[in-house]
Amino acid sequence: MTLLRVAGIETFYGASQALFGVDLDIAEGEVVALMGRNGMGKTTTIRSICGLNRPRSGAIEFGGAAIDRRQPFRIARLGIGLVPEGRRCFPNLTVRENLVAAARPGKWTIDGVTGLFPRLGERLGQYASTLSGGEQQMLAIGRALMTNPRLVILDEATEGLAPVIRQDIWTAIRKLKAEGQSILVVDKTMAELLPVADRCVVLEKGRTVWTGRPQELTEDLQDRYLGV
Ligand code: ATP
Repeated sequence: MTLLRVAGIETFYGASQALFGVDLDIAEGEVVALMGRNGMGKTTTIRSICGLNRPRSGAIEFGGAAIDRRQPFRIARLGIGLVPEGRRCFPNLTVRENLVAAARPGKWTIDGVTGLFPRLGERLGQYASTLSGGEQQMLAIGRALMTNPRLVILDEATEGLAPVIRQDIWTAIRKLKAEGQSILVVDKTMAELLPVADRCVVLEKGRTVWTGRPQELTEDLQDRYLGV
């Protein structure tokens, strides 16, 4: 069943158009990698889905309901958990408070999150501002999970993190996938991203230019669209 359907969205920053027709579907339980070089529209697509930048045209449906005219908090309540670029934890709240503030009923609780990220369990009483970048990313993921979302969106899942911590984040993403969590993920580490993705959606200049399975994303296509 289709969980998220993005069809032909066009999104602007003031007078400047950033998206010119992005199409993207996510089925229940699917992991989709949103790819493209810098500035091609990945973050804007995510912001459009979450209601932070409303598209001027096109359609976004989540669980069968139109969401492209809804407020961000309503979209979150429908079951989209965002892990934004730059993490944005509340610095003056403790780890526990950050998690509790996001909590909505469901299977994810503080115990579940600290089971996934034991480092957070050791730091529940610490202020988020005292955490390392990697721990803040774990907290941002934990906070999204505490909302018990139907879809988790990770914008730059491991950017700027130490290699060991990156591995912890990828391990967590693989565990979530194994549990059937639907995920939309952006990351530059192809070697980790491709094996975890069921499908890839590639953006170029604000348009969806290619969709397919990771094994179909040949080196030629990677050269053409991702410059690697
Ligand atoms: P990156 O990997 O660098 O984050 P991206 O694929 O996420 O890139 P976006 O950040 O969505 O790309 O940017 C898409 C386009 O929108 C770019 O041309 C960018 O310059 C423009 N853009 C992004 N944010 C703004 C903004 N606040 N105001 C004006 N234009 C913006």
